[in-house]
Amino acid sequence: MKGYPRFKKYSRSVEYKQQSWKLHPTKRRITFTDKKGIGELKLLGKWDIHTYPVELIKRVRIVHRADGYYVQFCVKVDNTQEVSLTTSEIGIDVGLEYFYSDSFGKHEENPRYLRKAEKDIKRVQRNIYKNKKGSSGRRKARGVYARKHLKVTRQRNEHAKRLARNLCLANAKVVLEDLNVSGLVINHKLAKSITDASWYNFRQWLEYFGEKFGREIIAVPPHFTSQECSNCGARVYKSLSTKTHSCSHCGHTEQPDVNAAKVILSRAFR
Ligand SMILES: [Zn+2]
Repeated sequence: MKGYPRFKKYSRSVEYKQQSWKLHPTKRRITFTDKKGIGELKLLGKWDIHTYPVELIKRVRIVHRADGYYVQFCVKVDNTQEVSLTTSEIGIDVGLEYFYSDSFGKHEENPRYLRKAEKDIKRVQRNIYKNKKGSSGRRKARGVYARKHLKVTRQRNEHAKRLARNLCLANAKVVLEDLNVSGLVINHKLAKSITDASWYNFRQWLEYFGEKFGREIIAVPPHFTSQECSNCGARVYKSLSTKTHSCSHCGHTEQPDVNAAKVILSRAFR
């Protein structure tokens, strides 16, 4: 890369319209023709851009990530997919222990590779502060942290995407809590911020596949979903560590996360 694209402070990406770039006939190189002096770039890595006609490439974006520069192609393709007819409805409850629990009684585990990677990230993050402010050691540690963080973010994204896709393929209606979290929240409690960010990401994928497959994604008010009895609607107070939901009004017992998922599902009909 000869010149560098100019990035806005927080966006780290620059977008190019159709007139300002040219793809080499082999599609292994791209030339930017604007006046910034970026010139020709060699495209590395796995990609299938050669399978699309150039007219379908609407925009090109250069993105700066912790491990290098990426060229993103925005391709116009037919985005509808045939899916099987179903009337299945599902409620899902996200938590710290499981990735989610559903109203059919199933728990989706947080995968082991992600838990391992997150432990590793915490270790690397501590390394940053062991080095003196402004030192090259600190800068290096920061780079290691950024690359590891990026890797686990990508793995989480793939995981969330796969689960969201499966949920939308199998159900006509997916009901979840309308939690007020944003993927951009910076939280000093790492575990909490990772959970928030991945939940936000998961919800975005659900909305994406809901739209794509023509499924309904419903967000319901989150208040007291863990306290309510899914069988009779009474409020049963319990601490977070309670292992069983046991209703003193109707005698119904259930695993608490599954009970919450059932309450969430029922709220879509109120
Ligand atoms: Zn009850």
